[in-house]
Amino acid sequence: MENLLKIEKQIRAGNDISYEDYQKLRAYREYINDLEEELHGLRNGTRSLEFALRSAGQSLAIVVGHTQNSPGASGTSPINQSEYPWNKDLATKIKQECQNRGVESKIFYRDGIGISGAYKQVKSWGAACVMELHFNAFNGSARGTETLYDADTNSGSKSWANRLQQSMLDVLGTKDRGLKERDPGDRGYKSVSSVNIPSALIEPFFGDNTADAQIGHSSKDDLAAALAAAAAGQLNVS
Ligand SMILES: [Zn+2]
Repeated sequence: MENLLKIEKQIRAGNDISYEDYQKLRAYREYINDLEEELHGLRNGTRSLEFALRSAGQSLAIVVGHTQNSPGASGTSPINQSEYPWNKDLATKIKQECQNRGVESKIFYRDGIGISGAYKQVKSWGAACVMELHFNAFNGSARGTETLYDADTNSGSKSWANRLQQSMLDVLGTKDRGLKERDPGDRGYKSVSSVNIPSALIEPFFGDNTADAQIGHSSKDDLAAALAAAAAGQLNVS
């Protein structure tokens, strides 16, 4: 809350805020949205549903970031979509590419169960690694690729994050913003620290930057293929 009041003061004084403060602002929003999602789920019963499916073995979980109710950042033209619908489609493409490579994968959603509910399903399914799909946003001029991970929950998360980061950079060729380690309270921390398997949250490009949005839009199929190839490498499926 202390951070939020500081950020409020700056904005009310007519000042722009830093990328880090904008991340904090988005972290607060996501925190509240996630609680609302869990509350919805509690009320309509989806939150308490048992997850029966089990993975056959070495498999990839794909978590679509955000929810239908709160779809995340908006992408500018030619994306013209927010994160949730864009990444729902990307998840389908990744799953198809995984299938082509003989990699078992499954798509998970946060709708009606929240982040903790989605990762509970990822765990009970028995995934060997997990990627959560997003795209970034700030002030229209920032651009590039970054990947979030937590080094404390699973020691393999950093190399998994690096594998995904490199595969995205190869395809997109935008700015390398590097790997971002997450700590409690940071945006994305809950997602990358929920399960003790290699976990990473990808931000391939800035959807509010015109050049990045163009790259993301035109490279979507290649991005899906590169992410599936990274999973195949991670899971030793050739
Ligand atoms: Zn997002």
